[in-house]
Amino acid sequence: MKKVLVTGGAGFLGSHLCRALLDKGYLVTSLDNFYTGSKKNLSNCINHENFNSIEHDVSEPIDMDVDIIFNLASPASPIHYQKDPIYTAKTNIFGAYNMLNLAKKNNAVIFQASTSEIYGDPETHPQVESYWGNVNPIGIRSCYDESKRCAETLFFDYHRMYNLDIRVVRIFNTYGPHMSIEDGRVVTNLIIQALKNNELTINGDGSQTRSFCYVSDLIEGFIRFIEQPQRITGPINLGNPHEITINELAKKIITLTGSKSRIEYTVMPQDDPLKRNPDISLAKQHLDWEPKVSLEDGLEETISYFSSVIK
Ligand code: NAD
Ligand code: UDP
Repeated sequence: MKKVLVTGGAGFLGSHLCRALLDKGYLVTSLDNFYTGSKKNLSNCINHENFNSIEHDVSEPIDMDVDIIFNLASPASPIHYQKDPIYTAKTNIFGAYNMLNLAKKNNAVIFQASTSEIYGDPETHPQVESYWGNVNPIGIRSCYDESKRCAETLFFDYHRMYNLDIRVVRIFNTYGPHMSIEDGRVVTNLIIQALKNNELTINGDGSQTRSFCYVSDLIEGFIRFIEQPQRITGPINLGNPHEITINELAKKIITLTGSKSRIEYTVMPQDDPLKRNPDISLAKQHLDWEPKVSLEDGLEETISYFSSVIK
């Protein structure tokens, strides 16, 4: 049985990934310091005989036997990653460095959860992997954007210098059960506000776009990427190309929750990208992957999850 380490395993994506890997017969260890994740997210893994959880900060070195590393540890929502920007940069840069050294020592395959934030406020649309991005290096989002870019650099230098088997994905906005109710992301905020019949807060005029992928689709893409035998490095975009405005998202959530909420427009935060949509041609070509879950179905599942946690 292959030994898999998932850093950030107690987070939103990490907990779904741990469960999916257990179902596929891997021996899974979650490494997490519970900065934004929670033990509750691991409730459907913790009693599995092939599961182990370690409390550890990825920015500190660690030694263990491992065949595959998924590096997901990082605060991910703007509110969480801006709370302590130096911590965020440290986690992404030192975390990548420590995990790359661990992979090198074990001759393990290593996967990096990179992000569409690599593209910043993009000037090409939709975003293709060959686009280098439009990123402010000194703004309030830079601690995340630039440290994720630096992590990609480290991955490709370890690949070039040591022929390390790397797999880099650029994840576009993903949502679903296990998102933290405090993460301030748009799907979380709008669903909770709608369920409580509070005003839905839209930043700016709501014409900015995002493309929302349901978590089960994304995790399927992760596993296809790690299991492909051709040693394709990426970067590969994973996300749902169905692009909508934040206004449209808010209206959908009001309809699906049957809420009486109204919309309140507030200020647009600095450097907030105006549009975002993944070109997923590479994922289709190399992984035979594309999302299957519609926005309506994914939102229904997520609304039902948040209804149970805010009770
Ligand atoms: P999350 O906040 O739910 O999960 C991140 C996990 O990392 C948490 O469990 C947290 O406790 C842990 N963590 C943070 N700092 C750590 C440290 N120093 N040491 C050990 N553990 C630490 O976020 P998520 O949405 O599940 O994101 C997971 C990964 O995917 C992140 O790397 C994020 O950048 C990337 N990503 C996510 C999205 C998305 O839409 N969800 C989009 C792009 C990229
Ligand atoms: N947003 C919003 N209301 C909220 C939270 C976010 O209008 O309560 C906007 C945010 O300004 C951005 C988009 O929704 O334009 C997506 O934000 P999110 O934080 O989910 O992710 P991002 O893609 O910006 O990292």
